[in-house]
Parts: sequence; structure tokens; C-alpha cells
Amino acid sequence: AKDGGRGRVEVYDDDLRRVLAAHAAVEDGLRRALARDELVLHYQPVTDLLTGRVGSVEALVRWQRPGEGLVPPGVFIPVAETSDLICDLGRWALRTSLAQLRAFDAAGGPGAGLKVAVNISGRHLRSPHLVEDVRSALEASGTAPHRLALEITETVMVEDDAAWARLEELRAIGVQIAIDDFGTGYTSFGQLARVPVDVLKIDRSFVDSEDPRTVELVRLVVGAARSFGLRVVAEGVEQVSQVHALQAVGCDTAQGYYFSRPVAADRLPTAVDGCHTR
Ligand code: C2E
Ligand code: CA
Ligand code: CA
Ligand code: CA
Repeated sequence: AKDGGRGRVEVYDDDLRRVLAAHAAVEDGLRRALARDELVLHYQPVTDLLTGRVGSVEALVRWQRPGEGLVPPGVFIPVAETSDLICDLGRWALRTSLAQLRAFDAAGGPGAGLKVAVNISGRHLRSPHLVEDVRSALEASGTAPHRLALEITETVMVEDDAAWARLEELRAIGVQIAIDDFGTGYTSFGQLARVPVDVLKIDRSFVDSEDPRTVELVRLVVGAARSFGLRVVAEGVEQVSQVHALQAVGCDTAQGYYFSRPVAADRLPTAVDGCHTR
């Protein structure tokens, strides 16, 4: 039995070694990717449900890993989040997306004047560098702060005085703050009145549901958001029936494959134009 026990430990040990090695490989690769410009941002339009116009886009990172094609963020963001590498990635995303806004402005056409939302990890929010990182990215690009939104997942929105103070500081300079994946965490209706945010992004799992009680829940959230002066974005809209349901509960804006997939910067003006005509 002892032997069996030891054997089992060794198996676990081997698995653990493999997991750690894989983690280290992704981390090393990602560090090099940042230095070598292998990361790219794709942009997904956010459409106004009343006018059909696109006012902003969400920047979503992809890794063009040589020989592997486009690696989705689900594979490497969790690894990046175990170290300060996620803050490097955050700085890169801020600078790259703001530079891209300038390029869209300069080109004129449907990309000009857009706002951009950048995903910021909880670790970066908890670091003392976030405010300076955002300020310096804005300065470097010369973009007006109100054209930038930071998306922070609801799960890291728990009451953390230092983090909330940082968000307030950013809002004071005009940067918008969005709660991402709303509904998957533990924000109560009571907290909604106090969280230092401007935008609430309703998680795809709610948009997906045809359960009448979930629809009613979305209606309540939209109503509460409105009375607290928050804008609402519905995420993951794939079907016209969902668009109609969201319009019926008074949701302002939506994002999802129905309107456009996230696209490379050079294809965004066409994607934005395509959303209009829907
Ligand atoms: P998220 O912030 O919730 O982003 C929305 C995800 O839903 C994106 O996946 C997007 O491509 C996908 N999506 C959009 N519309 C639809 C739809 O209609 N149906 C479905 N099924 N999916 C849709 P993506 O690009 O794979 O990103 C996954 C997650 O990775 C993001 O979730 C975000 O948490 C993280 N992420 C992406 N880019 C960054 C980044 O630059 N920094 C950080 N810290 N995290 C990022
Ligand atoms: Ca997001
Ligand atoms: Ca989300
Ligand atoms: Ca998410």
C-alpha cells in the first residue's frame, strides 16, 4: 500500500511538473511576444440599440504565435495574471489601442471619433501603477480621457478601498469605468448605488437565457442601472431575437457576433459601417 501511495504521489508530481512547465513556457513565450510585437488587438463594435450606430469598441488581445496562428486570450491571460506580466500587457493594450484611435481619427471615415474600452486585470487594479499607466498612455497618444473606458470584471470589484480610490481618481480625469461580466459576481443592488463606475456590462449568460425570470432580472438590472446613472451594455448578442428582447427591457447598447465579431484594426471601419445598416 505504501508503494502504491508513493507511486500515486509520483504521478501527481509528474502531472504537476508538466503543468508548471507548460505554465512557464507560456509565460516565457508571452514575455518574448510582448517584446517582439507578436500581440495584436482586435476590436469589437458596441452598437447603440436605439440608433444602430457604433460609438465604441472593445479591444481584445490575440497572440499571433509563430507557427500557431491566433492564440485566444483564454489560453494566456490566466497565465499572465499570475505575475506582473499582466500589468505589462495592460500597459501595452492601453498604448496600442489609444494609438489606434488616433490612426482611426486621422483616416476619417467610420472609425473616426470612436471610443475604446480596454480590459484591465484585477492585479493591475490592485497595483499602485494603474493610474500612472493610464495617464501616461493618454498623454503619449494625446487622446481625450473620455474616449477611454477601462473594463474591470465584477469579481474584482469587491470592496477594496485602495482600488476604489484608484477608480475614483481615474474617473476624476474623465476616464470611464465599466463593470465587466456583471451578474457573475457578487455585486448587490445596494452596492450598485455606490460602485465608482459609469458602465455596466451584462454578462452573456443572461443575454443567452430565454427563461422569463432571467429576462425579468435583466429588466430590473437595466432599470436599477438607469436610476443610478449607469449605462448598460449587453454582451454576447448573437441573434436578432435577443436584440428585440434587450430593446424591450430598455437596454442602451449591445455587443456580440450578431453585430460583428472582434476584427483586426484594418477591418474595423468596414465592420462599423456594416453595423449601421442593420
Ligand atoms: P470579456 O472581456 O468578457 O470579452 C468578451 C469575450 O466574448 C471575447 O472573447 C469576445 O470575443 C467574446 N464574444 C463577443 N461577442 C460574442 C458573442 O456574440 N458570442 C460569444 N460566444 N462570444 C462573444 P475573447 O476575445 O476570447 O476574450 C476572452 C476574455 O479574455 C475577455 O473576456 C477578457 O476577460 C480577456 N481579455 C481579452 N483581452 C484582454 C486584454 O487585453 N487584457 C486583459 N486583462 N484581459 C483580456
Ligand atoms: Ca471585457
Ligand atoms: Ca465580459
Ligand atoms: Ca469575461
